Amino acid sequence: MRTNGTAGVGASVSIVVPCFNEEEVLPAASERLLGLADRAKGYEFEFIFVDDGSSDGTLGFLRRLADKDDRVRVLTFSRNFGHQIAVSAGIDAATGDCAVLIDADLQDPPEVVLRMLEKWREGFDVVYGVRESRPGETHFKRGSARIFYRLLNRLSDVPIPLDTGDFRLMSRPVVEVLKTMPEKHRFVRGMVAWAGFRQYALPYEREERRAGVSKYPLRKMIQFASDGIVSFSSKPLRLATNLGLLASGLAIVGIFYALAMRIFTSIWVEGWTALMIAVLFIGGVQLISLGVIGEYIGRVYEETKKRPLYIVRERIGFPDAAAEQDA
Ligand code: UDP
Ligand code: MG
Repeated sequence: MRTNGTAGVGASVSIVVPCFNEEEVLPAASERLLGLADRAKGYEFEFIFVDDGSSDGTLGFLRRLADKDDRVRVLTFSRNFGHQIAVSAGIDAATGDCAVLIDADLQDPPEVVLRMLEKWREGFDVVYGVRESRPGETHFKRGSARIFYRLLNRLSDVPIPLDTGDFRLMSRPVVEVLKTMPEKHRFVRGMVAWAGFRQYALPYEREERRAGVSKYPLRKMIQFASDGIVSFSSKPLRLATNLGLLASGLAIVGIFYALAMRIFTSIWVEGWTALMIAVLFIGGVQLISLGVIGEYIGRVYEETKKRPLYIVRERIGFPDAAAEQDA
């Protein structure tokens, strides 16, 4: 029996596009995305643009787009909640037999979605894009991403595919699993890996950002990386314990050494260097360990507050919204 919903002719596809201050790229991006629908014959499309609290003309553009095209739906947030949350809101709102996550900046070529749909029809539940090349991105971004994904895989209990972004197709059963995962610090690509099902890695060439600038400054990248590691591994806690054990082991050696010096020799005052090293080393280990523990406790605290994941300000172009207006 197939598990991947009703793939094939007549199936409906939800395309989810998170947008944060993307007014420069949206005219070209929306045209190419909507054009995709004409090329994928036999599928019914809906386009869910999530305006993640943009402060530029993004919302105005999306409003006009929704007016012109009734396949376009727009969710607007009350403020900027971040990429992963915007994607999650799009998934929650999707009604299709499958959902596709794609960036607004045309770095993920919309045409690749056609190949994803083929794989879906063959029976896969998740088709994720693997970046073969990443032109137009800095050495720092590429290098740090490379190290991050390899480190994450070392630490994580579920294997998370290397060099993979959120560009992916997910069948309805997978979408339903994601919707049941309430965590606040979201690392969507890991959550999909965790969900399992039949997954297919589709290599593709990543393109350059068409216009505008990256919305992922270093601060957000670090936050994202720590969400990925802390959400999918508790090994850093074990590492803190091991560091503590190592420091204690060295301390015991040091204690015996100090006692031996005191009892059997007359050299006491010397050893300032050893003392400094010990104090600094233990201090460092303690601070690092506290920081690691703090990361986890902070997240436990965030989860216990049970705040909603995001706040929708307006829903535009959704069938239910139209019904409300008519009533
Ligand atoms: N994005 C978002 N909220 C944010 C940051 C980014 O919705 O707070 C969107 C952004 O509009 C784009 C996607 O997430 O569609 C990926 O962002 P970007 O291209 O800036 O990241 P990069 O490709 O540089 O890693
Ligand atoms: Mg980008």
